[in-house]
Amino acid sequence: VTIDLSRQTEALSGWGRIDSSPAQVVRPTNAAEVQSLILQMSGSGRSVIGRGSGYSYGDPALNRDQCVVETTGLNRVLNWDPTTGIIEVEPGVTVGQLCQIVAGDGWWPPVLPGAKGPTVGGCLASNVHGKNNWRSGTFGEHVEEMDIVFADGSLKTVSPNQDGDLFRAIIGGFGLLGLIVRVRLRMSRSSGHLRVERFAALGIEDLMWVLDRWSSTADYMVGWIDGFGTGKDLGRGLTQIAFETDTPRRAGGRVSSFTGTTYGAVSSKLWPLIKPFANRPSIERLNAFQYLVGSMNTGSSTVVSRYNFDFFHDFLPNWNRAFKDGILQYQLFVPRKDAAAVFTTALTRVQEAGMPPFLTVLKLHRPDDFLLSEGVDGFSLSMDFAPGKRRDLLTTTLNAITEEIVLPACGRFYLAKDYLLTRDQARKSFGAEAMDAFIDMKRQVDPNELFVSDMYRRLFAD
Ligand SMILES: Cc1cc2nc3c(=O)[nH]c(=O)nc-3n(C[C@H](O)[C@H](O)[C@H](O)COP(=O)(O)OP(=O)(O)OC[C@H]3O[C@@H](n4cnc5c(N)ncnc54)[C@H](O)[C@@H]3O)c2cc1C
Repeated sequence: VTIDLSRQTEALSGWGRIDSSPAQVVRPTNAAEVQSLILQMSGSGRSVIGRGSGYSYGDPALNRDQCVVETTGLNRVLNWDPTTGIIEVEPGVTVGQLCQIVAGDGWWPPVLPGAKGPTVGGCLASNVHGKNNWRSGTFGEHVEEMDIVFADGSLKTVSPNQDGDLFRAIIGGFGLLGLIVRVRLRMSRSSGHLRVERFAALGIEDLMWVLDRWSSTADYMVGWIDGFGTGKDLGRGLTQIAFETDTPRRAGGRVSSFTGTTYGAVSSKLWPLIKPFANRPSIERLNAFQYLVGSMNTGSSTVVSRYNFDFFHDFLPNWNRAFKDGILQYQLFVPRKDAAAVFTTALTRVQEAGMPPFLTVLKLHRPDDFLLSEGVDGFSLSMDFAPGKRRDLLTTTLNAITEEIVLPACGRFYLAKDYLLTRDQARKSFGAEAMDAFIDMKRQVDPNELFVSDMYRRLFAD
């Protein structure tokens, strides 16, 4: 393939659809095409960034007025060994496809994001975490090796044992060091079903207590908070504590009939149906209703398909489009000591500003040794907002929370969900040493800054 640099640009955005950023988009279909593209680009004076399915909320897969290489066309499964659980794929294979390939043989990806659309390449570049982060770590911890096309057009295999520093910078490096074109991943054994126990909790500290209480035995855990609860209801929520289980028939309990196959082409067109409800009064009622139903079912146990548990956000595909002015997510990771206080203050502040989050999720985490890591021995709280015309007020409020509460508590942020951090705040979040080490690594493998994104310009460039 050749890049026609005079070609029309396409309007791209992150999953939050908060802004649009035009770029020339190229769609190679194999690694050799990626190499030839990179060679052409490196002499053109233009910059480029990789893009998978565009599920990062903000700007890591955008490159305004420059070039974007979408790797969804590199979507072949190169090898699958059901005896060892090792799979070799191109980066454009989505995590949903990965599940479909391995599930029938009794395996499942060890770490998954909350939607089935993200690509393997995007999950490596963001180093995604799942509802088992405290137990199984991040996506990058399950990689045997990967092939990278670097800025000079060379293709090299990078593995955690032989190229530790480079490996730990590329994973979670948001495509800024090179393009991933092949990866070998380890899968985990799974029956494809989980037994899920549900508990209601009266506040954030209670929710954390439940997660801590089950952390030594559960396989997956997630907390949900009614972001509209105030006063005595502040931080009230529900937890789902899930355990790997045998087949539904043998595991006992009520079996959910809702399976992964329910999500089809039809459901992806249904999102306009929720448009009339994408407003504050409806969402507030929905949060209260969810808490009410959940609290009536506290202590209940159900066997569910892993599709439904893992891909919770796909309950209605493309639901983000129902929010006309876009969605902003703010996910803060805070060490255990201060987590409850920081989350309580953060939630109170956004409520006082008149913008309670429409979706609020709590997870338990552990640290990891990737260079740009948000991992902490503590918890994360993610809050989704639909700011509408009040985006400036929301960003000012969140910025104050970052400066005054999160960073002083050694909190961190996850760049796949971020759109607001400044360069200075990112240095505090990841640590100046880690940021400098990443920039040094970039100078070594990409001295002419070929790989650039809107996020890079915001957080890294001088
Ligand atoms: C509904 C929803 C739920 C989510 N749940 C979770 C969750 O539970 N946990 C979590 O951690 N994240 C979660 N995410 C975030 C999401 O998993 C990440 O943003 C992921 O990176 C998206 O993959 P993608 O293929 O869409 O990548 P994109 O968004 O297209 O790109 C993300 C980054 O990857 C880089 N990239 C993509 N392909 C390549 C490649 N081949 N080589 C090099 N770099 C590449 C891009 O340059 C960019 O920096 C969620 C997102 C949504 C919208």
